[in-house]
Amino acid sequence: MTADIRSGRLGPEEIAQNFCELHTPLTELQAIQESARCLFCHDAPCTEACPTDIDIPGFIRKIASGNVTGAATTILGENIMGNTCGNVCPVEELCEQVCVINTAEEKPVIIGQLQRYATDYLLDSGIQPFEAASPSGKHVAVIGAGPAGLSCAHRLATFGHEVTVFEARDEPGGLNEYGLAAYKMLDERAAREVAFILDIGHISVQTGQRLGRDFNLDALRLVYDAVFIGLGHNSVNMLGLDFEAADDVHNAVDYIERIRQEDLSKLPVGRQVVVIGGGNTAIDMAVQIKKLGAESVTMVYRRGFEQMGATVYERQVAQTNGVLIRTHAQPHRLLTESGQLTAVEFEYTEYDSNGHLSGTGETFSISADQVFKAIGQALDMTPFEGDRAPELTGHRIKVDSHQHTSLPDVWAGGDCTPGTDLTVTAVQDGKIAAISINEYLNHG
Ligand SMILES: Cc1cc2nc3c(=O)[nH]c(=O)nc-3n(C[C@H](O)[C@H](O)[C@H](O)COP(=O)(O)OP(=O)(O)OC[C@H]3O[C@@H](n4cnc5c(N)ncnc54)[C@H](O)[C@@H]3O)c2cc1C
Ligand code: SF4
Repeated sequence: MTADIRSGRLGPEEIAQNFCELHTPLTELQAIQESARCLFCHDAPCTEACPTDIDIPGFIRKIASGNVTGAATTILGENIMGNTCGNVCPVEELCEQVCVINTAEEKPVIIGQLQRYATDYLLDSGIQPFEAASPSGKHVAVIGAGPAGLSCAHRLATFGHEVTVFEARDEPGGLNEYGLAAYKMLDERAAREVAFILDIGHISVQTGQRLGRDFNLDALRLVYDAVFIGLGHNSVNMLGLDFEAADDVHNAVDYIERIRQEDLSKLPVGRQVVVIGGGNTAIDMAVQIKKLGAESVTMVYRRGFEQMGATVYERQVAQTNGVLIRTHAQPHRLLTESGQLTAVEFEYTEYDSNGHLSGTGETFSISADQVFKAIGQALDMTPFEGDRAPELTGHRIKVDSHQHTSLPDVWAGGDCTPGTDLTVTAVQDGKIAAISINEYLNHG
């Protein structure tokens, strides 16, 4: 059997249509009408649910009164990546879930789309509402130019501190640039937001600078007054099966990066595709390979729907795009013929009396030309080898409530630290760290 993997399964127009943004931007009239639905609650539950504490009724009221710049400034003052978050936040589990008018009869205020409306307006206008304070004479190093690192850098600049961001890749933005699904986040959005953040001044970004290869933590600590680590996840979990290194078995995050960076009509797309995993990365992978023209896409997760990392909404997006989701099965063998992948054999799973998941011994296989692994990412501490590294908890960098690590002059945040892995939480971590670093630099 020959694997059926081809590029250009769909024509350019169909691909462009499939990858247009999930939500069409609101018009001015729609934004005003939507903002009029808000009850402007006192002690608003939506603000309570927002990880970055945005004054949601405050910004919606400004949209309602026509002050869109003011609305955007309210948002960005708490969440400098409020534009990305307006596109990719799981609002259905955060602010919109708790909106008081979210009832059986009525839908919640579409807070995410209003946030995007206001911040799009500001970012397109060229207005810069923030300014750096006069130079403090202090210099902070930030490792990683993702949401955590850039949020930290921006807040530090508002305090007057000089910031140098060291980024391993060629472009700043982290997963905003390389990871978020292309149909949620058009490429120019990430770059426009980064440019807006850096426009404040006091921040220089050195790309192509990898911790552990081009510089090390000990050396940074000698030169800079403080250091923030925002490395994200820098490795992926493996299945541990034979033939895992085969050409047609991909890490989902690597392929998703190609979707964001390369010509979509040139990417290799299988006819029958299997995605292994149950989180949002698995969903994004499954949906996007289907949008690229795969004939059948099956996502397989070892536990049940209730345990999936992917939200109910994300699952609905997958299912409406024709992705079949199977649960309670774990990968057992990658089946090959003449070294070529033909199928994945799965074993059914069940919980034993102690609540542990184990295989039942009963198997089934799904034909596959291409397999994507999306079984989680991790923090690899190799870049810290030879240095005094911050302490870990589990497999992440241990921090206190101020994002302070075990090292006196080092803070960390985002995916490399414990907590939920979302853009919005990474931004909040960076902000909290910057406030704490500022305290430390001013008062020791
Ligand atoms: C496929 C996928 C889809 C996602 N979808 C969503 C979504 O829809 N909504 C949502 O809210 N969240 C989503 N997330 C999660 C979100 O993207 C992350 O939680 C967020 O980007 C974390 O920010 P960060 O700054 O900690 O890490 P990152 O965004 O990973 O940024 C870390 C930066 O550090 C750099 N770096 C790494 N190693 C080194 C080194 N040794 N030296 C120097 N620099 C280094 C990296 O190149 C990168 O630029 C998704 C994640 C993935 C993988
Ligand atoms: S909970 Fe809903 S109605 Fe109340 S302030 Fe927030 S968005 Fe408006």
